Amino acid sequence: MREGEITGGCMCGMIRYKVTTTPSCSTICHCNDCRLACGAQSVAWFSLPVESFVITKGNPKTYQSSNNATRTFCHECGTSLTYINESRAHEVDVTTSSLDDPEQFPPEKQVYEEHKLSWVKV
Ligand SMILES: [Zn+2]
Ligand SMILES: [Zn+2]
Repeated sequence: MREGEITGGCMCGMIRYKVTTTPSCSTICHCNDCRLACGAQSVAWFSLPVESFVITKGNPKTYQSSNNATRTFCHECGTSLTYINESRAHEVDVTTSSLDDPEQFPPEKQVYEEHKLSWVKV
């Protein structure tokens, strides 16, 4: 990893990516779909233009997670990587925890708080 470069990947290392611009926002999502996609109580995402997200190694598996959204993950280890919604197809959301340094983009807000589980403290 070069100085100042923003990189990440999946748990097993088969998928690697780099980010070529500073993300526009960073959120924690409590929606049902994110919870199931990641098997977690909530999921932190950062967003950026699709052309700024570059896969440098491997081929993530893509699936349709709802009528208007697709997600990708590593088919070897299962790490969730991206989310794209057709309504804002120019933008990709990337799981903050897949960054080599997840401290780089701390979440600024919570979304879908109405789906939040009662035992999740924010
Ligand atoms: Zn993997
Ligand atoms: Zn969500």
